[in-house]
Amino acid sequence: MIKPVSNKPAGKPAGKTGASSGMPRNRLIILDRDGVINQDSPEFVKSPDEWIPLPGALEAIARMNQAGYRVVIATNQSGLGRGLFDAATLNAIHIKLKTQLAKVGGTVDAIFICPHAPDDECDCRKPLPGLFYSIAQRFDIDLAGLPAVGDSARDLQAAYTAGCTPWLVLTGNGLKTQAQGNLPPTTVVWESLTAVAEALETANLAEEH
Ligand SMILES: [Mg+2]
Ligand SMILES: [Zn+2]
Repeated sequence: MIKPVSNKPAGKPAGKTGASSGMPRNRLIILDRDGVINQDSPEFVKSPDEWIPLPGALEAIARMNQAGYRVVIATNQSGLGRGLFDAATLNAIHIKLKTQLAKVGGTVDAIFICPHAPDDECDCRKPLPGLFYSIAQRFDIDLAGLPAVGDSARDLQAAYTAGCTPWLVLTGNGLKTQAQGNLPPTTVVWESLTAVAEALETANLAEEH
C-alpha cells in the first residue's frame, strides 16, 4: 500500500499548512514590523527604548538569512504623519533593530515605510499594496507567491492584493486577527516568526533533496 506523503511542514503551523502555498524560488520574505518582530503598542513605538524585540524574533530572522532568504520589512508608521515622532527618531529605532539583529547574525535588506496618516490618501498605507510594489521594483522580483508575514488584517490584505501569500503570525494582534476571521483565502497561519523560519528551512531542505 502506498501511503500519501505528508505535506505538513515541520514548522508547526497553528492553522493551515504552509506546504500548499508554494515556496518561492527567489528567496525573499516580507515582514511587518510591530507585533511581528517587536512588541506592538497602542500608544505607538515612539523611541528606541520603546522598541522591544519579541522573544526569538531576531534569531528567527537570522535563520531566514541562513536559509538563503533576503528579509525586507514593510511597515505602516503613521506616528510620523501624526507628528508623534520624527524621521530621525524612526531612524534611531531602526538602527537599534539592525544592531540587535546583527548581534545574532541577522540582517534585513531594506525597511520600507509608509509615513502617512490614515487621511493622507496615500497608496502605500497597508491594506493598500504600494509598499509591496515598491519592494518588487527595488529588488526587480515577481511578488507572486512570496511569503509576506503580518499580525493584522491590513498586512494580509496588502500582501494578498500584491500577489504574495499572506502569512499570519499569532504574535502582536495575531490572535485577535485570527478570531475576527474574514482573512484572505490564501492565508497561512503560524505561531510566531520562529515557526516561519522553521518553515523556510524545511522548504529549503525539500528543494535541495
Ligand atoms: Mg503589525
Ligand atoms: Zn503611505
